[in-house]
Amino acid sequence: MSGPYVTIDLDKIEHNTRTIVELCERHGVEVTGVTKGVCGHPEVARAMLRGGVISIADSRIENVERLSAAGIETPVMLLRVPPLSGAEQVVQQVELSLNSELSVLEALGEAAARHGKEHEVLLMVDLGDLREGLWPDELIPFVGDALTIDGITIVGIGTNLACFSGLAPSEDNMSQLVALAVDVESRYGLSLRWVSGLNSSGLDLLASGRLPARVNHARLGEAILLGRETIKRKPLSGCFQDAFVLHAEVLELKQKPSDVQGERGEDAFGERPAFEDRGRIRRALLNVGREDVLVEGLTPQIPGLRILGGSSGYLVVDVTDAPEELIVGAELSFDLTYGALLATMTSQYVKKRTLSAGAARQGG
Ligand SMILES: *Cc1c(COP(=O)(O)O)cnc(C)c1O
Repeated sequence: MSGPYVTIDLDKIEHNTRTIVELCERHGVEVTGVTKGVCGHPEVARAMLRGGVISIADSRIENVERLSAAGIETPVMLLRVPPLSGAEQVVQQVELSLNSELSVLEALGEAAARHGKEHEVLLMVDLGDLREGLWPDELIPFVGDALTIDGITIVGIGTNLACFSGLAPSEDNMSQLVALAVDVESRYGLSLRWVSGLNSSGLDLLASGRLPARVNHARLGEAILLGRETIKRKPLSGCFQDAFVLHAEVLELKQKPSDVQGERGEDAFGERPAFEDRGRIRRALLNVGREDVLVEGLTPQIPGLRILGGSSGYLVVDVTDAPEELIVGAELSFDLTYGALLATMTSQYVKKRTLSAGAARQGG
């Protein structure tokens, strides 16, 4: 039985990485590649490393384990603030984690001391996106307390914008981050290696030249994987947007009405979908659905096709205006948003096929 599959073009990922790393270097920013969107896929991490990232970051310990099991020895940064219950594992698996709770830092410090290690931490500040991090006025006293904990070293401060509330990075909030770093350094006599201000939402600001000079680190996932910044989802110049493509097979092709006749209730997901009445149309059923992908995040590569909706195992597509005659058994390809990529990489039903001209030459 064949199922849907996603192709992963490693050369495109490497190219995107190199393009973005060079842009960031011109503005004094070093890049860590984020693999959480691909569940810590080791070959994607290797493509990012070939493209010039200084390290890899992921939000899940399982993904970090996957990377190290595959022999990737680069330092890995844990992006999601660690659970208090997982301090032991975190200290053993990663060199650096993002943090915002004193009790967790204490647990990390104890675990690190037990293993004769020093665990590096980046303190997260919430500059208004309202997800993780200390509120700015809490930072200074927090650092004072954190400095009394053995086994941890504060290597920098960071912030994460756009992911939760869509708050955009700006010259203002980045200057606020820099001011906080300077304040921490002068009060406690520290020297912070990282002011980690950016994720993929910050590349426009960086390219505009308005990023304060002291911001020197970016944690980039979507920009590398899908070639877009994430405020307006604008394609980044010189980058590929189709390193990942989802492929599915046509199971049924029928001429049927475009709208429903009769009394209607909710669909399988509790929604009441609305359909436009356009008479009889040609409808294709594909072998991909909500168990595999975020249906709303798919764009057919063939122009003229329209996605009408999806259930757990089917995607329904209007193929009336397909430029060529489709047949049962044909394969259709789709570009993915970040949400669709995430779902696809997470689904056990979607096979992952890596492509690489370089690897092919070496008989891989
Ligand atoms: C996911 C995540 C990133 C990467 O975000 P992109 O928009 O994919 O670049 C960076 N930092 C943190 C803390 C994250 O959780």
